[in-house]
Amino acid sequence: MKLDSNRIYIDIIFRCYAELNDFLADKWKYKSFVLKLRTPVFVSEAIATLGIPLSEIDLILVNGNPAERWHKLENGDYISVYPTFETFDISSLKTTYKEALRKTRFIADAHLGKLTKYLRMLGFDTLYRNDFGDEEIINISLRENRIILTRDKMLLNSKRITHGYYIRAIHKHNQLIEIVNKFDLKSQFKPFTRCMTCNALLVPKTRDQVTDLVDKDTLTCFNEFYYCATCNKVYWKGSHFKRMKSLISDIAGMKK
Ligand SMILES: [Zn+2]
Repeated sequence: MKLDSNRIYIDIIFRCYAELNDFLADKWKYKSFVLKLRTPVFVSEAIATLGIPLSEIDLILVNGNPAERWHKLENGDYISVYPTFETFDISSLKTTYKEALRKTRFIADAHLGKLTKYLRMLGFDTLYRNDFGDEEIINISLRENRIILTRDKMLLNSKRITHGYYIRAIHKHNQLIEIVNKFDLKSQFKPFTRCMTCNALLVPKTRDQVTDLVDKDTLTCFNEFYYCATCNKVYWKGSHFKRMKSLISDIAGMKK
């Protein structure tokens, strides 16, 4: 780092825990390290220099004491940063409690179209449009209590976000497994209750009720149908269903 001799710099020691290390440069991972930062510097600014989105963080300790994000740092301060949904119990130390979401609902960014379909397949209310802008995503998330899912670290840097998650996996199956584990969703699966195309709830229909919407062969082979009134689409338990069902049992049977 190039230092400006007219400014006052202080040494701040950092230690980031668990999956927060995913955001760090290799030289900083899983150990304490020192950065010189220009004063005045607040906790949130110091952490921003590391590249960790604030929405990923549940607890910040400065010299062992819980600190708010606007806490002003002094030379030699030791910052410990803990992720959200960490497995060890830090609830007694938390300074800010986020309101628990009664129902797990998501809004996915423009790059997560395939993951969106899978989440809907498992019954999770997931909003998605490939033309949602960042501000729109944040506004909807706050208004409708939806967790933002994204692969864009910059999006999660907004201080307005209360519930957001940066997805590490690249492949859609791995992304789904990551989300199911992260938010402990296994007990909430309701497969084939939601339209994969538009997110609306499906309504069970008999064969007679869908004769105009499904081809003759399908009508002959199947007798249970599920209808989306929003996009006029009919689902039935064909070969696609079997593939999806085996994926769901694989996920449901996974050890965390
Ligand atoms: Zn639909």
